[in-house]
This record gives sequence, C-alpha cells and structure tokens, in this order.
Amino acid sequence: MSDDLITVTRPSLPDLEKLQPLLEGIWKSGRLTNGGPLHETLEAGLCEYLGVEHLSLFTNGTIALVTALQAMRVTGEVITTPYTFAATPHALLWNKLKPVFVDIEPDSFNLDASKIEAAITPETTAILPVHCYGTPANIDEIQRIADLYGLHVIYDAAHAFAVRYRGRSLLEAGDISVLSFHATKVFNTFEGGALILKDKKTKQRVDYLKNFGFANETTVVAPGINGKMNEFQAALGLLQLEKIDSDIRARQSVYRKYREELMGIEGLQLMEEPVDTEWNYSYCPVLVNERFPLSRDDLYSEFRKQGILVRRYFYPLVSDFPMYFDPSAVFENAADTAQRILCLPIYSDLNDEDFGRIMSCLREAANGHHGASGSGQ
Ligand SMILES: *Cc1c(COP(=O)(O)O)cnc(C)c1O
Repeated sequence: MSDDLITVTRPSLPDLEKLQPLLEGIWKSGRLTNGGPLHETLEAGLCEYLGVEHLSLFTNGTIALVTALQAMRVTGEVITTPYTFAATPHALLWNKLKPVFVDIEPDSFNLDASKIEAAITPETTAILPVHCYGTPANIDEIQRIADLYGLHVIYDAAHAFAVRYRGRSLLEAGDISVLSFHATKVFNTFEGGALILKDKKTKQRVDYLKNFGFANETTVVAPGINGKMNEFQAALGLLQLEKIDSDIRARQSVYRKYREELMGIEGLQLMEEPVDTEWNYSYCPVLVNERFPLSRDDLYSEFRKQGILVRRYFYPLVSDFPMYFDPSAVFENAADTAQRILCLPIYSDLNDEDFGRIMSCLREAANGHHGASGSGQ
C-alpha cells in the first residue's frame, strides 16, 4: 500500500517540454510582467475558451475581487453569503464595506435569493453571491432583485471556471465575475485570477486599477493597486489551457465513480450535479448524516490519520470569524451544512490505487472499523 499523501486537489503536470521554450522566451523578450506577450495571449485565449468578451488577468483572485468592488464604486452595505471562503467578506472589509450575510439554500449551498430583499437597507449598493462548488447561483432572481433596487451584482465565481448554464457561460451573469486561479482551483497558475467584464470601458478602468492607476507613463487616474499577473504565471496558464478540457473530463469520471461507490454507503450524501449545467467538477462535496456511524469531524480525522487530506470547505462559517460575528444573526442552513460537509479528493491524476485507499477508509468508517490500529497492510 502506498503511503503517499493524497490531497483534496492538485494541478495536473504541465507539458514540461513546452514550458522551457516559453520561459526562455520570457528572458529573451525582457518582458517579465506589465502586460507582456504571454499575458496578452492568455487573456485572448481565455476569452475565447470561456466564451466571454472582456477579461482582465490578476495576480490572484482576492486582489481581483477587491478591484471589482472599486471598479463598480460599491459603497455602504453588500449582501453576501456566510458559506464561502474568507476572501469573499475580507474583500469587502478592505474596501470599508459592510457585509450583510443572508442564509443559503440547503441543496445548492448558494445564497437563498428569497431572503435577499429582507436584508436590503438604504445603505445597500450591491449583492456579492458565490457560485459555490461551481453550482450556478439563482442568477435570474438575483438580477430581478438587483434591477428592482438598483444594486450591482458581483459574482465570486472562484469555483466556476468554464461552467456553462443553459448553454451560456455562467460568467456572463451580473456586472462582474471574479475567477481565482489558485493552486486548489480547476484551472490554475499557482496563484492567479481574473475579472470578467461587461464592456471595454470597465475593462480599461480595471486595467488601470490593477497597475497603480497608471493610464500612461505619467498619468495616474486612481489610487490603484499592484494586481498584475506576471509572465511566469501566464506561461503556466497557457499550458493548462491546452489540457483543461481533458482535466475536467477526468474529474467528471472521478466524480461519477464516487457517486456509484457512495450509493451503497448509508449516511453519506454526495452533492447532485446541477441541472442545465455543464459543470467543472471542481469539488466533491459530501454531507455526513446522522445515520453514518462517525461524526463528520471523526471521519475527517480518520482520513487525515491515513494521509488523505480531505477538507472541510466551508467550516467554520465566515460569519463566525471574530471580525464578522454577530450573536443575533442565525444562518440555519449554512450552520448545519458547515457541521456536516466534507470535500473528498478530486483531481485529474487521481489514480485507481489512491481512489481505492479513499474508498477503503470510507468503508471501514461506515462499518465501524475505524480507529483499529494495524488493520490491513
Ligand atoms: C479561492 C477563493 C477565493 C480567493 O482566490 P485567491 O486566488 O486564492 O485569492 C475567493 N473566493 C472563493 C469562494 C474561493 O474559493
């Protein structure tokens, strides 16, 4: 039996023979960053692949999100979900905005649109939903509410790379969508991100903002930040883009193997694939129910003991972090999900042997053989 660590996700190995000439090209051109040729090629390639018109690359998803809020001149209060990664509400605090959390739906894990209107105040200027695990948020209802109240909609689409909904790119929804290319994401440049924008003017503004606000060599139009993607990241992105379709297909087959295997185990509930959606299988979220012999946390520990680094995405809720905590606010569905969720390993290179190790850990736990030392060899 292999004792290798199994992580929750990992990037597939790029074609190293193609990497070397790209890197040599960077040194030869002398353009290491600031919109070099690889950056421009990757922007164009991603627009085409994703089926969107305007995209701006960033050094990571969080700076992209901070910049998106500035580009839309969001002020006051922003409605968002407690069931997300820390970066979502943190980007609001970095802009001195107040997050107003609204509970999620228990099945989609996305913002419950029917609860948004009750949270709107005269200070509200935007909604910041997340397409959790790449599952489309309720984009029609959210847009209806936004139009009615004159609010911006910025999607944290960090999980939603390449997701299509009813035949269109999901990234077209709202005013801006934010992508992350962090190492744990389906498409990654180790660190990286992008904004999907509606028009040329907003793209121009964002391009200024990510480069200190420089409009040209001598003119600075805004107190921008340094959010630029460098040429090394862009090289990684170009190589990833070549195999992203086969990576996603490989993830799909892992997901479906889990589905078959988990059907026979009582107390574990794999998330359903969303309808009308070309999904990206970026996560493998499982709910651990009362009928399972172990609690979620005990199952988590069993996996960890065996070198299988499953993750509790998302636990704890961001609304329980000290800078957001409000004892009078209760998010029942989000709190319940956070107690039961476990994300299993899923990546394109997950081989049969490692999949077998994951399943035998689950089966032993399901059969009550957990914690037995010296079992198996
Ligand atoms: C990964 C992630 C981010 C942050 O992206 P980085 O590229 O790591 O800065 C934001 N929101 C969500 C929901 C994420 O999962």
